[in-house]
Amino acid sequence: MKIRENVSISTLTTMRLGGEARYVVEIEAPEDVNPAYDLSQEKALPVFVLGGGANTLGRDEGYDGMIFLNKLRGIEAREEGDDLILTGMGGENWDDIVAYACERGYTGIEALSAIPGTLGAAPVQNIGAYGQELADTFVSLQAFDRETETVKEFTREECDFGYRRSIFNTSKRGQYFIMSVTLRLHKGEMTGPLYNSLQTYLDEHAITARDPQTIREAVTAVRAEKLPDPTTTPSAGSFFKNVYLSKGEAEVAAAKGIPVYTNGEENKVNAGWLIEQAGLKGQLLHGIRVNEKAALVLINESASKFADLAAARTEIRQAVLEKFGYDLTQEPVEIV
Ligand SMILES: Cc1cc2nc3c(=O)[nH]c(=O)nc-3n(C[C@H](O)[C@H](O)[C@H](O)COP(=O)(O)OP(=O)(O)OC[C@H]3O[C@@H](n4cnc5c(N)ncnc54)[C@H](O)[C@@H]3O)c2cc1C
Repeated sequence: MKIRENVSISTLTTMRLGGEARYVVEIEAPEDVNPAYDLSQEKALPVFVLGGGANTLGRDEGYDGMIFLNKLRGIEAREEGDDLILTGMGGENWDDIVAYACERGYTGIEALSAIPGTLGAAPVQNIGAYGQELADTFVSLQAFDRETETVKEFTREECDFGYRRSIFNTSKRGQYFIMSVTLRLHKGEMTGPLYNSLQTYLDEHAITARDPQTIREAVTAVRAEKLPDPTTTPSAGSFFKNVYLSKGEAEVAAAKGIPVYTNGEENKVNAGWLIEQAGLKGQLLHGIRVNEKAALVLINESASKFADLAAARTEIRQAVLEKFGYDLTQEPVEIV
């Protein structure tokens, strides 16, 4: 375990904002986790667990606490009939896990290609894209419980996954350090209709194959066209959550001409569409650019303070609220 003092949070998060964290503790082995929490108790400091910082924002006041950086590495996999049971340590890069599965011809997570961040963070908000979400292949995870100081295994049911949610970002936020995640992948390919933008890309390139590697390459290419690469362009990905409506609310919205996507019980309005219709797509607000190609994504073009981002956020929320009556919810988590 490595400990550093007074580290700028902007260097740990892809939005590249925020003051200093008092301590950063790099968790390099499973045995580091318990002593790291003991240390936080000795120092009477709060703890924030961080992976790649792709869904996390630092505030200007910094963090008077300890950031635990998940650096646990390792992948184990075994075949079970046509399935691959893959267990990865939480600090593994998520996209490396997707590559591992696709190279071996297993379907289940190929549409989640090129999502930045770690495997350990993937269950926290149940990452999703292009019709797949982590919950679809999730088997279990192991997490250190800071209250009982033991490692607990969680099944899919216990994680209570939903749209961009699990117990780890709701009822049990902050209680667990996710150490490893196990997925069940299947030999084969994606079935059923694909997302429009993905199907359009395949059609334009005369690609009819749907094997995991082909879909992975297509998803990566489609994403690269419209999403910023966080290694070169500061961003936290989608800044707001899509809006989910009851049946009655969906009928009202549809009558007003708002596109509502209904899938079973779910009625979704694309938050990016709302921002675009509010006239903000491509705008620069306080150094924050509303992405020209995907309005849901905010890019830190020239802001140096979280306060700038907060001001841009207020303007966007206000504009959508005034035009449509929906109060948008922020997706990235703030270190507090
Ligand atoms: C350009 C871009 C595109 C993106 N596209 C998508 C997308 O298509 N779909 C999608 O769902 N998301 C997307 N995201 C968001 C982000 O990639 C995911 O949320 C990802 O899972 C974040 O991983 P991370 O390791 O960076 O998490 P972090 O930002 O480090 O952490 C996120 C949250 O998880 C908690 N956490 C992290 N690790 C652990 C752990 N080991 N134990 C317990 N809690 C932990 C943190 O405390 C925090 O609350 C995108 C982000 C960017 C920048």
